[in-house]
Amino acid sequence: MAPKRLVFLGPPGTGKGTQAARLRELHGWHPLSSGDVMRAEIKAQSAIGKAAADYVKSGKLVPDGIITSVILAGLERLPHQDGWILDGFPRTVPQAEALETGLQDWKTPIDGVINFDLADRTIVERIISRRVCKVCGSTYNVRFQPPRQEGVCDRCGGEVTQRVDDREDVVATRLATYREQTAPLIAFYQQRGLLHTVSAADAVDQVAQAIAIVLASLGGAA
Ligand code: AMP
Repeated sequence: MAPKRLVFLGPPGTGKGTQAARLRELHGWHPLSSGDVMRAEIKAQSAIGKAAADYVKSGKLVPDGIITSVILAGLERLPHQDGWILDGFPRTVPQAEALETGLQDWKTPIDGVINFDLADRTIVERIISRRVCKVCGSTYNVRFQPPRQEGVCDRCGGEVTQRVDDREDVVATRLATYREQTAPLIAFYQQRGLLHTVSAADAVDQVAQAIAIVLASLGGAA
């Protein structure tokens, strides 16, 4: 399949990262997760990480200026003919406008936006039972897909823990933030004829299949 440039839109906990990893395996397209980038900056205690830490911990959005410059710089580093998947960016209309301008300058427009749709109740259930390996980032679910040994990553033996912002009180803030600041992007991309909604309630393979059908209908990157 021709390389695609995609935005994955949707609340936290809807499986965007899982599906982005699948597309990397299948097609070699590059996932770029703004949440992962922020967590790496915080871990490295960089100036950006220090500026972002309190926002991430409390489930609020990092200011547009900070996140936009980091993500656009990350995209610019990728070979321009390659496919990529933005996971978690843009999350506000100003971010989407800045992305559009940057991509226009590079003549590499978005091919499609996949909107992951899921009821809030299911999102909360999924997120509070999510666990992540501190070392390799593999994700688990204590209810449906726990690691073989509690707290230990099957893949690398690293420590499996809960993200601070996956706790129930913070999840409520993240969902409210999504509805207020990110959901307007659904109309933004609909107006541009780029939006494709998939149900994120199904099993991983079924969601992957729904995405494959959307991708087959898109034009490829030039
Ligand atoms: P995520 O892993 O995508 O849920 O992101 C974790 C946290 O990183 C969010 O709750 C925000 O604090 C921050 N973050 C990630 N992406 C963005 C973005 N596009 N705009 C602002 N903040 C972001």
